Amino acid sequence: MADDERFDAIVVGAGPAGTAAAYTMAKAGLQVALLERGPQPGSKNVMGGILYNHYLEEIVGDAWKEAPLERPIIEERRWMMTPKAYIGFDYKNLRNREHPHSFSVLRARFDPWFAEQAEKAGAMVVPETVVERLIVRNGRVVGVGTGRGDDLHAEVVIVSEGIGLGAGLLEKTLINGKPLRRKLRRNEVAMAVKEIMQLDSGLIEERFNCESGEGCTIECFGDSTMGMSGFMFIYTNKDTLSVGGGALLSEFNATLRSPNDLMEHFKNHPSVKPLLRGAETVEYLAHLIPEGGYRGIPKVYGPGYLVCGDAAMLSNPVHREGSNLAMVSGKLAGETVIHAKETEDFSESRLREYKGKLDSSWIMADMKKYDKAVPLLEHNPQMLAKYPQILDGALDEFFRVDGTSKWEKQSKIFKMIRKEGGLKMAWDTVKAAWAMK
Ligand SMILES: Cc1cc2nc3c(=O)[nH]c(=O)nc-3n(C[C@H](O)[C@H](O)[C@H](O)COP(=O)(O)OP(=O)(O)OC[C@H]3O[C@@H](n4cnc5c(N)ncnc54)[C@H](O)[C@@H]3O)c2cc1C
Repeated sequence: MADDERFDAIVVGAGPAGTAAAYTMAKAGLQVALLERGPQPGSKNVMGGILYNHYLEEIVGDAWKEAPLERPIIEERRWMMTPKAYIGFDYKNLRNREHPHSFSVLRARFDPWFAEQAEKAGAMVVPETVVERLIVRNGRVVGVGTGRGDDLHAEVVIVSEGIGLGAGLLEKTLINGKPLRRKLRRNEVAMAVKEIMQLDSGLIEERFNCESGEGCTIECFGDSTMGMSGFMFIYTNKDTLSVGGGALLSEFNATLRSPNDLMEHFKNHPSVKPLLRGAETVEYLAHLIPEGGYRGIPKVYGPGYLVCGDAAMLSNPVHREGSNLAMVSGKLAGETVIHAKETEDFSESRLREYKGKLDSSWIMADMKKYDKAVPLLEHNPQMLAKYPQILDGALDEFFRVDGTSKWEKQSKIFKMIRKEGGLKMAWDTVKAAWAMK
């Protein structure tokens, strides 16, 4: 790269958001540089992860079928856990065999493939390049300064650096004395951890009741996160399991628990332990997840820049979606720059088109719908701690065959629910439904 080279767009970060943006613009013939700090795209990235192929197809078309995906997800399991039990909901959807909509994925394999598609479309992908600062001149972002010591200039810089808490470009760049994104609060981000655990593919299929090549998810609430707001997961890959989860950073701080405490607690639950038996941890990763909801979204456009993906706080933890919001916001940012190039107008008011596209998309509809979901759990810890125990107690009574008449059992269950706060539980259920209406 020559010093002072000028691009139509520079994209910071080759995650799903940045690569989607770079691909979209390069395909339309724009001069694009995609800068990634890792030795290669994906080497530093963490995701559960379940990837939704619909969005990938929207970007790369039929090429999505060649992506290095792990297993199509045929079955989704949700477990509400207590220390000695779990209450489960399983949904095995055999239509997913013909028409899968989600796949388990390992980002260290997926991201390089995705970046390669952007490169084939004409983007210049530059790994091992840390963007250290956004260059601001006369109140406008005009380029980036990299750890290689060179300054690169562009009409637009797309910031898709991920959440970038604290040390991120958005928080440290000032325009007219104001940062591009305010400091995030500790209850607006989850600390997530993940282990990749090696296990024979046949054993995975046997233990998780999957046909050859097919996969399932297990997501666990309640005791799995020691009652904190979040969830734990097990996802089946080809010959590994992705095991992890997370909770609000503020709750880790308040309880003085570490992510490692959480993992050990989960992995040792009597329902989880046998699933992981003999599996060897080959990688341990930690990362933050934006959970600030609609109200946490910063300004996503400004003079000379656009923000997408996790950097823009676009994520829906209730539905375990983030990569798709990242890809689609990247694509919309890319389309905005293409339009700006066509009209030779890169002004802030032209770049505002990106905000309009986001506002009229499903992304903002979902962000608004789930805006109150995380605070609801944060401020009502009984929902994940006490209520599962009440249900567990009721089910224990209901299923236990012990010489008690069914009438007596029924009355014991009602009394127990009333004593433990059944009315409040019913009210909280209404509140939860209302919050997500
Ligand atoms: C444990 C965990 C589980 C998850 N599970 C799921 C799931 O199952 N499904 C789902 O859809 N989503 C999931 N997510 C969320 C998903 O991973 C994110 O929403 C998604 O990765 C966001 O993409 P992004 O491109 O915005 O950011 P990122 O994926 O974080 O990519 C940012 C990129 O920018 C690079 N970068 C950062 N700073 C710089 C810099 N200064 N210079 C150059 N490069 C830089 C990084 O190295 C990285 O490659 C999960 C997240 C976690 C942590």
